[in-house]
Amino acid sequence: MGYKFATKAIHAGQHADPTTGAVMTPIYQTSTYQQAAPGDHKGYEYSRGTNPTRKALEDCLAALENGKYGLAFSSGMAATETVLKLLRPGDEVITGDDLYGGSYRIFTKVFEHYGIKFHFVNTSKPEQISKKINSNTRLIWIETPTNPTLKLADIAIIGGIAKAAGVLFAVDNTFASPYLQNPLDMGADIVMHSVTKYIGGHSDVVMGALVVNDKELYDELFFYYNACGGTPGPQDSFLVLRGIKTLHLRMKAHCENGRRVAEYLKSHRKIAKIYWPGLEDHEGHDVAKKQMRDFGGMVSIVLKDATLQDTFKVVSSFRVFTLAESLGGVESLINHPATMTHGSIPKEAREKVGVVDNLIRISVGVEDIDDLLVDLEQALA
Ligand SMILES: *Cc1c(COP(=O)(O)O)cnc(C)c1O
Repeated sequence: MGYKFATKAIHAGQHADPTTGAVMTPIYQTSTYQQAAPGDHKGYEYSRGTNPTRKALEDCLAALENGKYGLAFSSGMAATETVLKLLRPGDEVITGDDLYGGSYRIFTKVFEHYGIKFHFVNTSKPEQISKKINSNTRLIWIETPTNPTLKLADIAIIGGIAKAAGVLFAVDNTFASPYLQNPLDMGADIVMHSVTKYIGGHSDVVMGALVVNDKELYDELFFYYNACGGTPGPQDSFLVLRGIKTLHLRMKAHCENGRRVAEYLKSHRKIAKIYWPGLEDHEGHDVAKKQMRDFGGMVSIVLKDATLQDTFKVVSSFRVFTLAESLGGVESLINHPATMTHGSIPKEAREKVGVVDNLIRISVGVEDIDDLLVDLEQALA
């Protein structure tokens, strides 16, 4: 579809209901579908595999990522797991050393047991990826910007490396959302989302998604999606379709508030280090400028000379920001990666990539910026 982002966010995959004319996609709360004779049906047989509400969402997600095929899953991890099921014992994966904690966990604690080898490198240095490629390499999996230190990986360069080596290239696009960046346009084969975050946007649904362009790859992923069954129900699919209608409005506000928070915090006396891709001196700022349309609402900070106890005191003293896991909702959240989202990563491995005890991750919401800045000031005082 040739429409622009905001139009697709509101309309893609959706049509007035043929029976009633309902403008909003109905919640097809059904597990099964009538067949006139065996095999004579309208394309829907059983809701683990296909459901009209989910289908509308999948088509919308595909359109937003400029892809042909979308698949929705019951969580981001179920989406990730489905990609990993393409692998066989002996296959190798090259991935980032600064990943979402749950991705690190599923790689090392689940799929290593099935004979798959993972190499963890700094993906902001593409040559580190090239060096690990061998005849067993089957997949390159990256996040950009990374969680929580917002490192940038050059999608087009890594896409070129993947193509030359004939390996699959998947990008976890959760932090950017399709509003800020479309990896399929830059050489990725698979885009993965934790829909739970910006796409859903209201902290009321856990869901994941994959978007691809290649029909054969889609068919293979669809096989595992249906065979293993990590698919979401129609109610959650509806909530996400509803959330997506304001994705562009929310993202614009997240980016604006993110900028204001980053600019306020960068010279704050209590802060030793700040990570936000929009800052000129952020490592990877040039890559962010090249491949993202704006810089997002995720900001991480390292407190100056703060112990774990000092840090706990700060993260527990907010009034507008809520101390909680997750990100990307309309409400501002504070997170302590070392003990919360990244608690499953060994201390040494996480500290190597900057996830220190005095690091705080902020998901800047879309409340009034003045209230957010006052809250930051009092919590850091
Ligand atoms: C949250 C998150 C995931 C996992 O998604 P769930 O929906 O929680 O299963 C994966 N990657 C990133 C970057 C995330 O933030």
